[in-house]
Amino acid sequence: MIRDPLAVLPAWRQHLHRHPELSNEERETAAFVCARLSELGIPFTPGVGGHGVVATLNRGGNRSVGLRADMDALPIMEATGLPYASATPGVMHACGHDGHTTSLLGAAMLLRDDPSWSGTVHFVFQPAEEGPGKGTQAGALSMLADGLLHRFPMERIFACHNWPGLEAGTVAVHSGPVMAQGGRVRITIDGHAGHAAMPHLTRDAVLAAGHVLVALQSVVARNVDPLDASVVSICMIEAGQAPNQIPARVTLQGTLRALRPDVFEAAAARIVAITQHIGAALDVRAEAEVTRSVAATVNHAAEAELAAAAAAAAGLPVRRDLAPTMAGEDFGWMLRERPGAYLWIGNGPAQDGAFLHNPGYDFNDAILPAAATCLAAIARRALAEG
Ligand SMILES: [Zn+2]
Ligand SMILES: [Zn+2]
Repeated sequence: MIRDPLAVLPAWRQHLHRHPELSNEERETAAFVCARLSELGIPFTPGVGGHGVVATLNRGGNRSVGLRADMDALPIMEATGLPYASATPGVMHACGHDGHTTSLLGAAMLLRDDPSWSGTVHFVFQPAEEGPGKGTQAGALSMLADGLLHRFPMERIFACHNWPGLEAGTVAVHSGPVMAQGGRVRITIDGHAGHAAMPHLTRDAVLAAGHVLVALQSVVARNVDPLDASVVSICMIEAGQAPNQIPARVTLQGTLRALRPDVFEAAAARIVAITQHIGAALDVRAEAEVTRSVAATVNHAAEAELAAAAAAAAGLPVRRDLAPTMAGEDFGWMLRERPGAYLWIGNGPAQDGAFLHNPGYDFNDAILPAAATCLAAIARRALAEG
């Protein structure tokens, strides 16, 4: 009987699921990855860009490729009721990064045991995809700043995200944009506080905030080409201490997303201008700041074709017709530095409507072999093709 080397993956995945760690706090997760790599006899470098780990299989030649997985969890209270549910209250692998980490270990295992290829494969275990957490920046930027691409030279880089609602084990490859550029919008409106019954002695920041909120809806509706995707959502409003006081300050926070950098920048400029001018019109000081948190994840054409061909040749069903999503992904930063592609792999139907970042979400262990096989197949093809 031939033992399936990937049979161990569900136990690894469930261990990681039970022990989730927040962005930039992935100490034990990285230690787990290093322990498994040691057992596999695969050399690795820990501490790359924080808790990042880079493992390397070097078989000579001048070709090289990177495969990347993220390792962090989210500040969400798990509600799956699973036997391997999070043992850390308020922290949960609700985005399936436990599955990504495990899939990449599986791919390393498959490539280690396959003598048919030559070149260098770097396995990039990245921290802090979901944001900086208590750290200073997201993990892709930290690893790049720590010399990822110079210390571990790679011609191309690929990554894969589990996708609920897509048939289990089906691989989706986009040509061009996959996920959006994202930024945080923070608006501060300063007026003059006073009695609710004497508004003429105040400069009302709350009323101005209402106008700003409504006017910002015109950015997507009137400043962006209807054929270009973008979204402006204001999600937090903070103001006031008493129902009979007009407060001095209102803050609004939200998000701006766009699939193209020029659309993002144009929308950001309109948000700043509209806020400022409505403030001026209503005699308050209103300022908007738009920070850039993730670059758009845009597949390179040749690498998207390569990934789709590799997945199909590995026997996996491939879809090329899925629309991008306006969610963000920090792998976009890596695709700005090296050609590559970002794939989705179907997690199967969303159980009870639990999509990514839902407290009921769980990575589907049944797709681990497909995900590992897919990543390994892409690496082989990337090293073989010119
Ligand atoms: Zn996520
Ligand atoms: Zn994710």
